[in-house]
Amino acid sequence: MAQTMVIGAGPAGLMAAEQLAAAGHEVLVAEAKSSVARKFLMAGKSGLNLTKDESFDTFMGAYGGAEDWLHPMVRAFDAQAVMAWASDLGQEMFTGSTGRVFPKVMKASPLLRAWLARLDQTGVEIRTRWRWQGWQDGALVFDTPAGERLFTPDATVLALGGASWARLGADGAWAPWLADKGVTLSPFEPANAALSVDWSQYMQPHFGSALKSVRWMAGALDSRGEATISARGLEGGGLYSLTPALRGGDPLFVDLLPDLGEKDLLARLASKNPKTTLSQWLKKTLHLPPQKIALFHEMKKRCGLPKLDEACAIKRLPVLNADLRPMDEAISTAGGVGRGALDRGLMLSALPGVFCAGEMLDWEAPTGGYLLTACLATGRWAGQSAVAWLER
Ligand SMILES: Cc1cc2nc3c(=O)[nH]c(=O)nc-3n(C[C@H](O)[C@H](O)[C@H](O)COP(=O)(O)OP(=O)(O)OC[C@H]3O[C@@H](n4cnc5c(N)ncnc54)[C@H](O)[C@@H]3O)c2cc1C
Repeated sequence: MAQTMVIGAGPAGLMAAEQLAAAGHEVLVAEAKSSVARKFLMAGKSGLNLTKDESFDTFMGAYGGAEDWLHPMVRAFDAQAVMAWASDLGQEMFTGSTGRVFPKVMKASPLLRAWLARLDQTGVEIRTRWRWQGWQDGALVFDTPAGERLFTPDATVLALGGASWARLGADGAWAPWLADKGVTLSPFEPANAALSVDWSQYMQPHFGSALKSVRWMAGALDSRGEATISARGLEGGGLYSLTPALRGGDPLFVDLLPDLGEKDLLARLASKNPKTTLSQWLKKTLHLPPQKIALFHEMKKRCGLPKLDEACAIKRLPVLNADLRPMDEAISTAGGVGRGALDRGLMLSALPGVFCAGEMLDWEAPTGGYLLTACLATGRWAGQSAVAWLER
C-alpha cells in the first residue's frame, strides 16, 4: 500500500482520491479552505449543471483546441458515466430541453454529502485548512493549523483549480511554484466571463431584463443563448461561450432577430409607413420586446447613423464599450499547466510521481456541464494513472 496525497478538494481532487483509495492506497487529501469543494457548491446555487446529454462528438467539440487532448479522458468518463456516477450517489437526475443535465434537487450539497460519506468509507482522509506552499528539499510543504508539515508521498495529485473566484479557494498561487520546477504554464485568462458595458441612463429601466432569442457573434464564434442586462453590463451563458474571441479583441455583435432572414427584414422595412416611428415599427411589426428596442437605440446612437442602416443594426448590432469583467469574476479560467508539460497520464514530466487534474490544466469550455465533466474525467484519469505508476 502506497502513501498518496491529493492537494485540492474540488471535484477533480475528490475524484482522483476515489481512484487511489479504490486501488487500496492510503490517501490524504489536503484542502486550503476550512471546508471542501466550495466552488462545486457555488456551482449548485444556480442549478448544478453536471454534464450535457448530446452526441459524444458534439460534446467534445466544446473543448475547442483541447478536444484531442481530453478525448480519451472524457471518452472514459463521458456524460453517460457522469449521470450514472451521480445516480449511484443517490441523485435523481433530469435532462433539460437543451440537453443540460442536473440533479433533480438542483443543488450540489446532497451529492457532495453522499460522495464524502463514500470517500470516508473507503478510508480517504481529508484535512482542511492545510494550504500547500510548494516544495522544500523535495518534500511538499503545508501550512496547517498545527504549524508547518512536510510530506514526501509516493505519488501526488495536484487538483488546485483555476484562478477565478479566489475566495472559494482557486487562487492560482501555485503557478510560480510549478514554473520554478520547470513546468510550462500558460498565463491564466478569464473564460465564461460577463461583460462590463458603460450604459447610458436610458438603459436603467431594463436592468434585470433578459435578452432572449438573440444570436451573439464575435470573431468566428456565435451563440444563440440568452443574456441579462445588468447595471454593470451583460451576463449569461449566451455570451460566455464567446469569451475566447472577446479576449482576443474581436468586437461583439448581436442579431436581435436571428429567426428572421435578412431578405424578409428588408422587405418589411421597404413597406414601412414613413409616418410610423422606428420604435413603433420595431414594436408593432417586428414584435421586439422593450429591452431589445432599448439596446437597439442605445447602440445605434453610439455607432452614429450614417454607419449603420436599420436592417444591419437589427441583424448585426455592434455592442460597443463592452469589456470582459475581471478574471476573478469569471466562471472559469483558461491557461494553467499545458499538455506539453505532462505525459499521457497527466503526470508532470519535470516531476515524476506528480499528476495534475481539473481546471488547473490548460483547457477551457463553455458552461453547459462541460467544465465539471472534464474536471471529473481528468481527476479520474490522473488518479488511475497514479495507480498505474505506483504499480509499474
Ligand atoms: C458561480 C459558478 C457556477 C458554476 N457552475 C457550473 C456548472 O453549473 N457546471 C459546470 O460544469 N461548471 C460550473 N462551474 C465551474 C466548476 O465549478 C469548476 O470548473 C470546477 O469546480 C473546477 O473543479 P476543480 O476541482 O478543478 O477545481 P476547484 O473546484 O476550484 O477546486 C480546487 C480546490 O483546490 C484548493 N486549493 C487551491 N490551492 C490550494 C493549496 N495551495 N493548498 C491546498 N488546497 C488548495 C481550493 O481551495 C479548492 O478547494 C461554475 C463555477 C462558478 C464559479
